[in-house]
Amino acid sequence: MTESIVEAVGVVKLLGSGPSQVEALRGVSLALQGGQLALLIGPSGSGKTTLLTVLGCMLSPTRGMVKVHGRTTERLDPEELAKIRREHVGFIFQSYHLFPTLSARENVRMALDLRGERGAASRAKAKDALAQVGLGHKLGAFPRELSGGEQQRVAIARAIAGKPSLILADEPTGALDSKSGQVIMQVLAQIASDRSCAVFVVTHDPRIVSFADRIVHIEDGSIVKDELKRGENASREESRVTTARNLELKIRRTVA
Ligand code: ADP
Ligand code: MG
Repeated sequence: MTESIVEAVGVVKLLGSGPSQVEALRGVSLALQGGQLALLIGPSGSGKTTLLTVLGCMLSPTRGMVKVHGRTTERLDPEELAKIRREHVGFIFQSYHLFPTLSARENVRMALDLRGERGAASRAKAKDALAQVGLGHKLGAFPRELSGGEQQRVAIARAIAGKPSLILADEPTGALDSKSGQVIMQVLAQIASDRSCAVFVVTHDPRIVSFADRIVHIEDGSIVKDELKRGENASREESRVTTARNLELKIRRTVA
């Protein structure tokens, strides 16, 4: 059995206050494993973003607990939670949140800088991360010179540069055309082929399902179905042995 990277145990999350208070999560238990690309699917307002932010230690549960690498995050102060996020979690959002005045490499280096990594080692790491998402040839490009899909790949490189063990993506293909969305999912599947990293992706996009090892369905703050796809999915086995170079060729084929 692979190690659980992150685990939610009976998580309840109340949001808002007074009469407008909402029970966004109603007792969610879920463990995410390394080497797994899991999708989170559910209607708008069902609690997907809330679950991601709780798993990523951005919000604390109202009741229940979250464990990261087996260690409970209860009673940690904001500084300690921030440290867990820096060390273990990479976030990817629908809008890429890149700095327009920084190049692709500088955008990735920003994230490393926050972890205290500077100098030549950080330059090399940023380059590696961009190569891993098939953008090794666009290190100096500015966001305005990149397509939406390429900008999202820079955002992914920024999320993976520090080698987090958990990647959380909230509708990462939501703003992209179908081909660019496919490339993003290939990249995320490739990241999940590393057994020390769990990838959890919120999506509405049914075309993405073929990339998943697992599909978690959420409705009205509760997990209603949790399906394992592994074994059905031969392409995942293939992607486990895909090198960064092969991925780059695959991306070129998809985009061409
Ligand atoms: P999803 O990402 O699936 O669309 P969310 O997790 O964003 O859903 O929201 C879950 C529920 O919590 C929704 O009913 C939403 O309206 C509510 N909600 C989200 N954020 C807040 C907030 N800051 N205050 C009060 N209610 C909120
Ligand atoms: Mg959401």
